[in-house]
Amino acid sequence: MDSDYALCDSGVEQSPIDLRNATVVEGASLEPEYRAGAVSIARNEHAVDLLDNGHTIQITYDAGSTIEADGVIYELVQFHFHAPSEHTVEGQHYPMEMHFVHQAEDGALAVVGVFVAEGEHSEVFQGLLDESPSQSGAERHLEGVGLDVDAFVPEQTEYFRYMGSLTTPPCSEGVRWIVLPNPLVVSAEQVAAFERLLHDNNRPLQPIGERQLDLIQY
Ligand SMILES: [Zn+2]
Repeated sequence: MDSDYALCDSGVEQSPIDLRNATVVEGASLEPEYRAGAVSIARNEHAVDLLDNGHTIQITYDAGSTIEADGVIYELVQFHFHAPSEHTVEGQHYPMEMHFVHQAEDGALAVVGVFVAEGEHSEVFQGLLDESPSQSGAERHLEGVGLDVDAFVPEQTEYFRYMGSLTTPPCSEGVRWIVLPNPLVVSAEQVAAFERLLHDNNRPLQPIGERQLDLIQY
């Protein structure tokens, strides 16, 4: 394996993890300021990956959408999907997990994880399904259409927080993880349609080790 990817094997603060036994902490709410803008949706094969079937559907965002966490402003760069979820809650997977990848001015990364659960039909999710390329490697640019990214992020009263890593090579550490317990709900048919595009691209769980998992309540 390329030494650039050594952390994937030897890192001790890796992601994803099982979310359990969190320390409850009172804190400030997240302040997402996401705006609809021009986006492109790509269906990628990773050139190199740790997964048997490592591909994803990724939505790249124009500049201007931000989130504030612990006093730091992070800009939304892209979001993408894993099926099934990468994080688990007390050992349980969700059918999917979305990762909203943000970067601060100093280069620090923050990823917001949103679970997707099965239930009612979701209009906003259908919009994404309709626009997703059916061919792997294809990219579609949606000028001025925009996905209302806010609508993908359900209201929360709490969130999990821990320090981890990218879940694909180079598995860089120092990533601030914010995982939201309240999932986006989509129908069983929508889950099935998505799984026809994408499935089994979740990295296995990693040990939490010496790290602390917080549950921030507000
Ligand atoms: Zn991801």
